[in-house]
Amino acid sequence: MPSSACHQNCSEELSEVLLASGPITTMPVPGRRCPACLEKGETVWVIQGKCCPECGTPVN
Ligand SMILES: [Zn+2]
Repeated sequence: MPSSACHQNCSEELSEVLLASGPITTMPVPGRRCPACLEKGETVWVIQGKCCPECGTPVN
């Protein structure tokens, strides 16, 4: 009986860890800087493989 209670606690802890680390792991790599906007002195982050939302330049 105590073993099933332990299992429940463990999975709850695991989901809390995943929720807590989720947003943090995506922070260090937001994407690539758009080279066209960078020339204009603007830093626009674009997800790799997507187009710049400001000027439409594809960023690879
Ligand atoms: Zn751009």
